[in-house]
Amino acid sequence: MKIAVLPGDGIGPEIVAEAVKVLNALDLDFEMESAPVGGAAYALTGHPLPEATLKLAMEADAVLFGAVGDWKYDTLDRPLRPEQAILGLRKHMGLFANFRPAICYKELTHASSLKPELVAGLDILIIRELTGDIYFGQPRGRRIATDGHFPGAEEAFDTMRYSRPEIERIAHVAFQAAQKRSKRVTSVDKANVLETFQFWKDVVTEVGKEYPDVQLDHMYVDNAAMQLVKEPKRFDVVVTGNMFGDILSDEASMLTGSIGMLPSASLNSKGQGLYEPSHGSAPDIAGKNVANPLATILSAAMMLRFSLNQEAAAQRIEDAVQAVLAQGLRTPDIWSEGTTRVGTAEMGDAVVAALR
Ligand code: NAD
Repeated sequence: MKIAVLPGDGIGPEIVAEAVKVLNALDLDFEMESAPVGGAAYALTGHPLPEATLKLAMEADAVLFGAVGDWKYDTLDRPLRPEQAILGLRKHMGLFANFRPAICYKELTHASSLKPELVAGLDILIIRELTGDIYFGQPRGRRIATDGHFPGAEEAFDTMRYSRPEIERIAHVAFQAAQKRSKRVTSVDKANVLETFQFWKDVVTEVGKEYPDVQLDHMYVDNAAMQLVKEPKRFDVVVTGNMFGDILSDEASMLTGSIGMLPSASLNSKGQGLYEPSHGSAPDIAGKNVANPLATILSAAMMLRFSLNQEAAAQRIEDAVQAVLAQGLRTPDIWSEGTTRVGTAEMGDAVVAALR
């Protein structure tokens, strides 16, 4: 088993170091190799995703990724910006399925902006299609309008599109994930307005017939956005397209209180995956030993489960995180009166101790 370790920028190196510490404490037989990515790679090589880093990622069974981005690179040409590294990895590795669990640990219910009874025990899995939709559809661009309300005016346009195989494969992923959970899938669309999402709904419904043990329902995205804050526990697995998934997964993440707790996985059809926290590189707190490493540690657990076939080890890490929270240890982002404030490294050490 080979893991490519790409720490990246900002808090990336600090939080990834803690996840590596936890992986090493498992005494499993895997090889880890690190490479620069994002702004760190640009500073070293002039490119955010150097060829050697991409090669390492493509050859590994899994990629453990920190975060990329720093304000100091915001003036670079778009293809050279740190964020291009993650887009490049998604494209080259064919990572089409993004898993974003939103779990509200009982010790952290007060950290949510919703009432505790609405979020206590929350456990949602949002599955976002990652390589299609309006983010990648062609044609796109700027032009002078020849029709519409303002012919002759400058306009911009994008193309929303999904092919049948793209929808089928993400639907299979969602139904199979639901089979391992509470056997419910909500497919989120905008079929009342968009042709693309009427097609999405039709194809998901067809695929659903192959999974008679899973209950499928459909919801318009505007209603889903509302239900996520009104009654979030009604959801189990949510599957949706790239743009709606982008927005809804961030909304769901806030139900749990801190973005510092949320892992994510992006998988391709070979089971190879890229595992990263849901948050960014947080340059405002980088190098201060205050970042919460738990999202990255939980991403490492997802990596063991989905790409390395080590379910027992994944569960051990998740139990250790739960134990550390039960001990009252908190990084500043999740700290509250009566709990013990710890730094990034101390939190990692505590998870290792709980593992043992
Ligand atoms: P961010 O997620 O980095 O930070 C948002 C807020 O959350 C900040 O106040 C930050 O301090 C806090 N935060 C984030 N992670 C935390 C953690 N583990 N522990 C405690 N607090 C945490 O988002 P942003 O500020 O909008 O973006 C900063 C940079 O990250 C930008 O350059 C952006 O492009 C990049 N970014 C990268 C990724 C990625 O690598 N996949 C994702 C999102 C943003």
